[in-house]
Amino acid sequence: MAVIVDIVSFLDILEREVADYRVPVVDLIGIQTSDPFRILIATILSARTKDEVTAVASERLFARAPDAPALRSLAEKEIRDLIYPVGFYKSKAAHLKKTAEILVVRHENRVPCTRGGLLELPGVGRKTANLVLAVAFDIPAICVDTHVHRIMNIWGYVETKTPLETEMALNEKLPLPYWNKVNSLLVAFGQGTCRPVSPHCDNCVLGETCPRIGVTPRKVKKVKK
Ligand code: SF4
Repeated sequence: MAVIVDIVSFLDILEREVADYRVPVVDLIGIQTSDPFRILIATILSARTKDEVTAVASERLFARAPDAPALRSLAEKEIRDLIYPVGFYKSKAAHLKKTAEILVVRHENRVPCTRGGLLELPGVGRKTANLVLAVAFDIPAICVDTHVHRIMNIWGYVETKTPLETEMALNEKLPLPYWNKVNSLLVAFGQGTCRPVSPHCDNCVLGETCPRIGVTPRKVKKVKK
């Protein structure tokens, strides 16, 4: 049975905590541009890729292809060179080329603002679709990054095996005002404090109340006096 934690209090504490952390790259692009095209493309690039790498690759690509028609006009090889070394850059280049084609031909150069429309784009799964809905269109959608799935289970707020199960469980119980921001909060927190390996429980704002289910915290060396 899921543990009872005060999720509103946890997320409110984290919102204050991560205000000084590095903003996840897709949220940053959302804040800087509000451009659904750039948010979609950066989200595709960010899969299995560090934020620093995604940021540089996105900037290089957008300098040559600021919109769908420009991206469509690039050869797949050019796209590949521009986005290297993001993870799976070869298949992502192929997906981006096809995505640009679909946006131009079927959507009048625009990014669709429905989950169904987004899921028809190559390389776009639920995580990407939900993030684009939330960040680009401010439509309530819960994006479940690996950090969200992991930390929600550490807290015992959900008891799930896969990100999809976590999304479904959160759809049932997470209060609506937190849907669009939970991913950004927990990605920043998961990269900074509650890391996948050796989380910094000794220096965590939730240290007193977190159930720490299945967690092995980092070891902190005691300083001899
Ligand atoms: S106490 Fe540890 S496990 Fe719990 S949220 Fe903080 S860092 Fe993560």
